[in-house]
Amino acid sequence: MSYFVVNENCNGCLSCVENCPANALAWKDEGPKRTILHNMARCVRCANCWRICPQHAIEFQHFLENQWYEVKTLDLVHCKICGAPLYTADLKRTISEKMGSEPEPLCPKHRESEFAARQAFIALRKSRY
Ligand code: SF4
Ligand code: SF4
Repeated sequence: MSYFVVNENCNGCLSCVENCPANALAWKDEGPKRTILHNMARCVRCANCWRICPQHAIEFQHFLENQWYEVKTLDLVHCKICGAPLYTADLKRTISEKMGSEPEPLCPKHRESEFAARQAFIALRKSRY
């Protein structure tokens, strides 16, 4: 969805086009119609057009409300002890493929305590033999 919206107040004066520092606005006159164009890839979100428009026709509602749009939702892997979110299942798959082994799902705290418990177990076994 474009955050740049021009409402019905626009009279096609082209002030916004002429004052856009990023050349993100353009227009085309075709037959009986003038069309205002906006390029999101070029726009630097300076809002100059919004300030300058004499008709208050530019609505940057999404931009000004600082909204976030969800672009992707992925499955998470959690720490097997405390349930803290660690990384995505897809990232785990990528790492497993590259490393040839599966990372153990442990948060830093429980990775440390698990390591300490293993060390203690090894030391105990050694002391018995
Ligand atoms: S400055 Fe405002 S009224 Fe003029 S063309 Fe741009 S949006 Fe339309
Ligand atoms: S926000 Fe700035 S860069 Fe984007 S269209 Fe308006 S004047 Fe151009």
